[in-house]
Amino acid sequence: MGNRNTSMKLPSSAKSDNSRATQFQQTPPTYEESTQNVMEKYKKQVQHAETPEDLLEPLLSGMGIYEKRKLIEDAPDVVFKDMDLTQKTLNLETQLEDANYDELAQRVAYRYHLLNAASNRNWYKELIKLDVTLRWIIQRRTWCEQKAKALQTCQRDMSSPDLSRLEAYEEQIKSLNSRYWVTHRKQWIESDKLRSISAKRALTRQRKHTDWYLSGVLREDCAKRGGCCGRSCGCCERTRMTKVYTDGVRDRGHCTTACSCCLETHGIDGEHLEMKDVDEVHFGPLRDDHTLRLLKGYIFYLNGME
Ligand SMILES: [Zn+2]
Ligand SMILES: [Zn+2]
Ligand SMILES: [Zn+2]
Repeated sequence: MGNRNTSMKLPSSAKSDNSRATQFQQTPPTYEESTQNVMEKYKKQVQHAETPEDLLEPLLSGMGIYEKRKLIEDAPDVVFKDMDLTQKTLNLETQLEDANYDELAQRVAYRYHLLNAASNRNWYKELIKLDVTLRWIIQRRTWCEQKAKALQTCQRDMSSPDLSRLEAYEEQIKSLNSRYWVTHRKQWIESDKLRSISAKRALTRQRKHTDWYLSGVLREDCAKRGGCCGRSCGCCERTRMTKVYTDGVRDRGHCTTACSCCLETHGIDGEHLEMKDVDEVHFGPLRDDHTLRLLKGYIFYLNGME
């Protein structure tokens, strides 16, 4: 009896396993499985891509940003290297931009630039120097304002030496103001005469974002120079100015040797400070890490890009 029962159970159990197997085959793929399949399909499509147009569908799909970044990195050089396809690369950038994917458009422009741009790098060395100069001027002006304010609030009847110090700070502020506008104009002229299409477009797109300078590469650069990004004070993220000025002044940015917070932290008397920061802008051999970091930071990368 017991034997019969056991033998009867076996086929029934086998049948049920069988029907489960059939059921499994008929079940549609899960969300994860179908996403995986789509990703594999796009990965292959990009690996065999011949023109920038082949990248459009995968880059506009519902895939995550990390996968899309990887797709741009993995696309064959030929997609961006053939100069006949330049217009198609520009179209791809525009379509990504229109779909609010500025970051991806910047990555496309960066790949195109590395493959096609001339080895002359003086143009962006000049732009970086102007950027550093503008930041130095703003930070120096803030330092002067802080010193002047301290003198004014400490003493009601100011002694003659203090009065002349106050006048000296005010003179410095005036001269920094005119230096700012001279440098600002020069910056515009230099960026407007950029000949590289990819760099010019990338620069324009980068500067549309007011927090562009907070990309990982420039934060790291600031921190390694002993700047505020290496501490928790947050000076680089907020306005550097103590007073309200007219529009058009770039009041945010990374530290220079004129940053009041850095001077205080490092115990430096800023009284006779001269701007030597631009002398530190150096490029190594073609495409060394430092040079590429500056190229990404000042032209191609946005906040959130590492
Ligand atoms: Zn600082
Ligand atoms: Zn600080
Ligand atoms: Zn910083």
